[in-house]
Amino acid sequence: MNVLVLNAGSSSLKYQLVDMDTEEVITRGLCERVGTPLSFHKHGVDSDECVIHRPLPSHHAAVLAVLEALTHPEYGAIADLSEIQGIGHRVVHGGDYFAESVIITDEVIARIEECSQLAPLHNPAALAGIQSCGELMPDKVQVATFDTAFHQSMPPRAYRYALPPEYYEQHRIRRYGFHGTSHRYVAEQAALFLQRPLDELKLITCHLGNGCSLTAIDGGRSVDTSMGFTPLEGLMMGTRSGSIDPAIVLYLIDELGMDTAEIGALLNRLSGLLGVSQSSNDMRDVRDAAEAGNADAALALELYAHAVLHYLGSYVFALGGVDAIVFTAGVGENSADMRQKILTGLEGLGICLDAERNAARGGERTISSDDSQVKVLVIPTNEELMIARDVKALMR
Ligand code: ADP
Repeated sequence: MNVLVLNAGSSSLKYQLVDMDTEEVITRGLCERVGTPLSFHKHGVDSDECVIHRPLPSHHAAVLAVLEALTHPEYGAIADLSEIQGIGHRVVHGGDYFAESVIITDEVIARIEECSQLAPLHNPAALAGIQSCGELMPDKVQVATFDTAFHQSMPPRAYRYALPPEYYEQHRIRRYGFHGTSHRYVAEQAALFLQRPLDELKLITCHLGNGCSLTAIDGGRSVDTSMGFTPLEGLMMGTRSGSIDPAIVLYLIDELGMDTAEIGALLNRLSGLLGVSQSSNDMRDVRDAAEAGNADAALALELYAHAVLHYLGSYVFALGGVDAIVFTAGVGENSADMRQKILTGLEGLGICLDAERNAARGGERTISSDDSQVKVLVIPTNEELMIARDVKALMR
């Protein structure tokens, strides 16, 4: 059974065709700069096997280009579209309507449209993909998987802000959380890896990529997460500030005369690793700069690790203990230095890294020492596979 997974960003469309009998990726690719004259399409398992420069004025055009590439006589992977059995779409925001993936119906589309207000750049792109697939492949089952869904299990004490009720009831201001598909995937894989039932485990999953979030997971259910009403809350990220005193925003308006667009750009695009280091949003560059003696870069690394530690400590207490801490995404999977920086000095709490295991590379692995009370794992994330698994399960 083949599942096509589509991940539409505001100006991009990533895709994977997955054989769900083996869970192997058949092919993948991405369309970038959709809606601009500089659009292009990379197709193939290494994503740059084949680069096609062509106008992609809309997400509809991008979906057409993807289907053409998949069935292309030269570089395609399937003879025709009948070899695709189901389609999964990543949708950023499901509001509080969706606690799990669903088969897409007109009602689901209406709900996703309603949630566009909460994710104005992303939900409309996903909807365009859903509509295009519906037109081009009307007989296929389509499934929506939401970044927010996994966190719908949070109790009110974790998802409500300390604001008067009308802001929640009338304006839907609450913590939603994001990266849910990644947190769910690594939690399920961690349970398999540890050979223990997920519903008996207390886990803290650390998704440290360009965007970063931590989630406290009790028995397979998200009970708290660091991103909030938007992905800006929580940890320091590549270009996002993460949590700051909200009164700083008032000060920027009142004293510096900044407007909402300027403040949005500052907090979302010009802060985090990039803003503090004054050099790059990429962890490798910041680490290199710090090693070369750049004090701003060194401070950026300190702030980054401190923010992770802040949430880690909070979640150990919220969960009443922790069986395993799981690192994933670009930094979490690859930066042994950052993992060490975060977890150094926690031996008294039963968290002991093994230096050699931490420095080694590979797939799913343990990086804590044998006598560490808390297991520390690296589990590479795979959101596309999680989506494809949901499609397969719903098609049953
Ligand atoms: P996204 O959130 O865009 O999917 P990724 O999960 O790919 O991002 O993470 C990107 C981050 O991972 C960047 O900061 C990058 O520097 C970091 N990263 C990737 N490889 C390494 C590495 N070998 N060592 C340290 N950091 C790395």
